[in-house]
Amino acid sequence: MPNPMQAIRWNKQMNFWCRLLTSIFLAGLAACLLLGLLEPGRAQAQTPATYTVQPGDTLFVIANRFGVELADLAAANGIADINLIAVGQVLVIPGAESSLPVIAARPGDSLADVAARLGATVEQVAALNQMEPAIRLFPGQPVQIPPGAPSDTELRFGAVTDVRLPGQIVQGRTGRLAVQSSRLLSLTATWNGLPLGVQPLSAGAEGTWQSAFLPTPALLGPGLFPVEIEYTASNGVVLSRTFSVLVSQGVYDSQLIELPDDKGGLLDPAFTQPEIEKLYALWAVTDTPLLWSEPFSRPIGLEYPTTSPYGTRRSYNGGPYSSYHAGQDFGAPAGVTVTAPGDGVVVLAEPLNVRGNAVVIDHGAGVFTGYWHLSENFMTPGQRVAVGDPLGLVGTTGLSTGNHLHWEVRIYGVAVDPLQFLEEGIGDWGLTIGD
Ligand SMILES: [Zn+2]
Repeated sequence: MPNPMQAIRWNKQMNFWCRLLTSIFLAGLAACLLLGLLEPGRAQAQTPATYTVQPGDTLFVIANRFGVELADLAAANGIADINLIAVGQVLVIPGAESSLPVIAARPGDSLADVAARLGATVEQVAALNQMEPAIRLFPGQPVQIPPGAPSDTELRFGAVTDVRLPGQIVQGRTGRLAVQSSRLLSLTATWNGLPLGVQPLSAGAEGTWQSAFLPTPALLGPGLFPVEIEYTASNGVVLSRTFSVLVSQGVYDSQLIELPDDKGGLLDPAFTQPEIEKLYALWAVTDTPLLWSEPFSRPIGLEYPTTSPYGTRRSYNGGPYSSYHAGQDFGAPAGVTVTAPGDGVVVLAEPLNVRGNAVVIDHGAGVFTGYWHLSENFMTPGQRVAVGDPLGLVGTTGLSTGNHLHWEVRIYGVAVDPLQFLEEGIGDWGLTIGD
């Protein structure tokens, strides 16, 4: 049972959202409230073993979030002053299931020796294992490996000579996997079970590099999730390795949406399902060559601000928070021009029941962008577009409550944070290949 104060706070929140949502329907504030509802069940949750400190966090708030005692959380992480935590610091959550990989200490190892072999600091490994940094280990003693620091022996298997993975990915953002091999291999890879579109990298000083994106749903984790890489050797033996990547908590709001009874008919699968199937079939294509390397440009002028951000968790009519806003909404009057953020090929340009007048661009390697609710659509399927080309005009077609642009980025079908694609360095993904 929640205590009375929590209950009061909860009621206030409920009232706030009910009032807000009523005002959304009354005022027709631009939003596409139904888009999350129509693709349920594509996210998974896992018990967090670690948590990465986000801007605005306090240790007290984090302890509350995971339901652990403040003193236990501080002790587990060797924190003497609870006011001193840093953004980006990885905290161990005491009592939570840990699925971190473990290595065995060699004879004569100190914790510092193990840390050095992993490319980690002794403080990191000590905090993770709740050990004193100066400890000597007995041979075979299990030591938990920090995320993103696989041991050197794990990085090569068969003809694979190097594997690059991000140390962590924030929920909703996209990381990148790169695999080096002594000859070109027919590699397959999965990310938490999602098949990845592995493509050869054109840049590569030595050996052969192949790469894939790691698109992370806004509702995945936080926790550790597997990347599995596999190929069949020339003797027919299947070789595979599984690595763990830490998904850390993103900063997303939650939203309760009450759909009036008279809108119920809009959720009829006969009305919503055909376009979902059509879009997922398009988004499954991964063999188009990568057509962009620069950051995307904003598809609408800077004077049109975000009215509803990517990633907001959504509950419909009191149900679970099992879906999220798949794109970024920009409020703009009807008739404002929408432009291509990067080079690509138009693969869909037609009116859809829910998404209204829609354009989808294939930017290659499994990366797609979508533009919904347009009043005018200038595109035809098969057309090549360059960055800045006009695609259509802002509108409120389909299931929309006012004029706005809904912009989304899909990778292998997963809706990821579009704003990451406007950031400097997105084209090279922070990976220096061949160094
Ligand atoms: Zn939207």
